[in-house]
Amino acid sequence: MQIIYLDNAATSKPDEQAVERAMEFLYENFYNPSARYRQGVLLQNQLDIARNAMLAFLNGQSTHNFIFTSCGTEGNNQVFQFAAKANKNIVVNLGEHPSVYNVAKALEQKGIEVRFAKLTRDGKVDIDDLLSLIDDKTTLVSVMHINNETGAINDIESIASLVKAKTENRRCYMHVDGVQAFGKIPFALEDNIDFYTVSAHKVGGIKGVGGLFYKKNIALAPFVVGGGQEMGLRSGTENVFGNMQFYYAMQNRMLNLERCLQTVKECKTYIEKHLESTLYTILYPQSSPYILTIAAVHLRGEVLLHMLEEEGLLCSTGSACSSNAKYKYNRTIQATAISKANAEGVLRLSFGYNTSLEECKRAVEILNSCAKSLKAKIL
Ligand code: PLP
Repeated sequence: MQIIYLDNAATSKPDEQAVERAMEFLYENFYNPSARYRQGVLLQNQLDIARNAMLAFLNGQSTHNFIFTSCGTEGNNQVFQFAAKANKNIVVNLGEHPSVYNVAKALEQKGIEVRFAKLTRDGKVDIDDLLSLIDDKTTLVSVMHINNETGAINDIESIASLVKAKTENRRCYMHVDGVQAFGKIPFALEDNIDFYTVSAHKVGGIKGVGGLFYKKNIALAPFVVGGGQEMGLRSGTENVFGNMQFYYAMQNRMLNLERCLQTVKECKTYIEKHLESTLYTILYPQSSPYILTIAAVHLRGEVLLHMLEEEGLLCSTGSACSSNAKYKYNRTIQATAISKANAEGVLRLSFGYNTSLEECKRAVEILNSCAKSLKAKIL
């Protein structure tokens, strides 16, 4: 059976060409980049080429630095551990990925004051609410670029400038989790964005590789301490293969950004148009072209997901995934105040650099027929 993979916000298939190009760093050039002999120095040079390219992808060469990390989660943790200070506060929001939200919660347990801004109905951060929570004791404001559940795109350039204008505190940092945006939509780093976190495996890189952009004038502290790799900011012998493969995959993403955007837009529009409106609601119409969040009205997303899987379509649900009693449904989805009829039937379809329209045509047939037969079963 043909598998149609529409769960690219969870992870993407590694870019084969990038893997092939990086293979030399597995067997041939396997040396330790910290070694003093020529082979080590050459590898360090390669990593610096990759680092500079990452900065160039976001036009940040003159304003920002970049370190490789082990994942998006690590980058987010590093920023929060660095910026959260006793007797000060940090401002996040209810829609953040667990790698931000749960770190904020853990800091709260340690006595840091954490303020959570609301989301709007279209899944974005409520800017007025966010700004109202910021004061001169705020040391960190964190707003994700593209929400991984709703696909909502936060206008982070304008949010960052509003945040900076709101506080007198020069040590109030603006952090953006860019994991669902990097290599997917056109974007350039700006002065008001102090930190920008990215991850390889959402864009054809391999799992376990990520990166953190930070402003040049910030004396960032390490999160992983040890041998002093990555300019002393991320110790641990470098994942040369992983970092180089991430760089090569990103080269391909940036080269094809517009073409890919065009394709995923076509895919998303096709599915939106052909889903039966008696079966499905489209929840966040203005969202990223890479994410389509829908609700199967009065049906259970979890049950539907497995029926879709039987037909070869892989996607994800937005239903509650933990026993956390506070959130009956997915925390982010719940924060957008969707109706009860929709809340249990949320499905997320997400497209990637290798998704085709043909696959989406088949996907929509499967979506309609599975929802129809589930509805028939329960009525
Ligand atoms: N932030 C967002 C918005 C994500 O979607 C993810 C992954 O799902 C992460 C952070 C974590 O990235 P990683 O899997 O590299 O730790």
